[in-house]
Amino acid sequence: MRIQLWGVRGSLPSPINNEEYTGKIKRILDFAVQGGLKKKEDIDGFISSLPDELRYVFGGDTTCVTVSSDSGKIYILDCGTGLRRFGNVLMEGDCAKGQGVLNIMFTHNHWDHIQGLPFFRPIYVPGNVLNFYSPYKNLQLNLENQMSSPYFPATFSGTAATKNYFNIENAVQTPLKLEDDLEISIFPLKHPQGCFAYKFRQNGKQFIFATDTEFTGEAIEQLKGTNEFFKDADILVLDSQYTLDEAFLKVDWGHTSYTMAVNCAINWNVKKLVMTHHEPAYSDDILQENYLLALEHARQMTDVNTEILLAREGMIFDL
Ligand SMILES: [Zn+2]
Ligand SMILES: [Zn+2]
Repeated sequence: MRIQLWGVRGSLPSPINNEEYTGKIKRILDFAVQGGLKKKEDIDGFISSLPDELRYVFGGDTTCVTVSSDSGKIYILDCGTGLRRFGNVLMEGDCAKGQGVLNIMFTHNHWDHIQGLPFFRPIYVPGNVLNFYSPYKNLQLNLENQMSSPYFPATFSGTAATKNYFNIENAVQTPLKLEDDLEISIFPLKHPQGCFAYKFRQNGKQFIFATDTEFTGEAIEQLKGTNEFFKDADILVLDSQYTLDEAFLKVDWGHTSYTMAVNCAINWNVKKLVMTHHEPAYSDDILQENYLLALEHARQMTDVNTEILLAREGMIFDL
C-alpha cells in the first residue's frame, strides 16, 4: 500500500497568509546569513538543512488521503479540497481518456470532507467510473445537495462520469473484501452527526484513518471495541486538532487534542502516529510548537514504541 496525504487542514481551507510568509522568509534569510550561504549551488543543501516549519508549509487544503493498493487500485478517503490537486494528477493518466476507475470513501459528509468534489476533474470525463463507498444511506443526496443551484453551476448528477454507490455499514461488524488480499473495516467515532474510521489491511499491514473524532480518556473506556480496532496499526492518521486547553473549551466539538492522540496511539501500540486535521487558526509555527510538545509528552511516557509525525500535504508512506 502507498498512502499519500493531499489535504491535512481541518474545518476549512486555510492557506498561509502574507504575514506568515514574510515571517518565514525573514527567518530563512536569517539562517542564510548565519550559515554564510554565498553560492547558488549551495541553495538546495541549505534548504534541506532548514527546520520543517521553514522548509515546508504544512498545508491549507482540507482532508483528502489516497491509498494505492499493491495491485495499483486507487482508494480515495474523503473529498476535501486536497482532492482537486489529486484530480489534476489523475488527468495526466487514464482519467483523461475516460478509462479511470476510482474508489471513493467517506468518513462523513461535513463540508471540509466533500468540498473538493465539484473541482475534481475526472468526474466530468465520460467513461470514468467512480465507486462511492459509505456507511451513510443518504450519501448520493448529500453530494447532490452540495452541487446544486444557486451554490454551484453544475449539478452532481449531471456530471459525465459513471457513479456507483455501495453502502458499507456492515463493515463495522464484518471486514469487506475489496481485493483478494485487501479488506477494509470501519469503526464509528464520536463526532457531531457521526463519523467513521477506516482500516485497510493488505499483506499483513494495517493502515487506519481516523479523522474528525473526539477521543478522551473517558470516551476510550466507554467505546466498546476501540482497542480491538486500533491496536497494533502500522500507521494511524488521527485527528489531533487541538491543544489540551482548547479541547477542554470545546467539549463535544468532535475533535481530539494532540496530547490525547499521543496517549491513544501509545496505548494502542501504534507503530506510526500521524497527527492531522490541523486547526485552521494555528499557524505553521504553532503547529510545529504543538508537535514538539507532543513529542515531549510521549518522551515522558514509558515503553513508547510509537513514532510521531505531523501531517503535511504531499507526505507519502509505503507499507
Ligand atoms: Zn473535518
Ligand atoms: Zn466533521
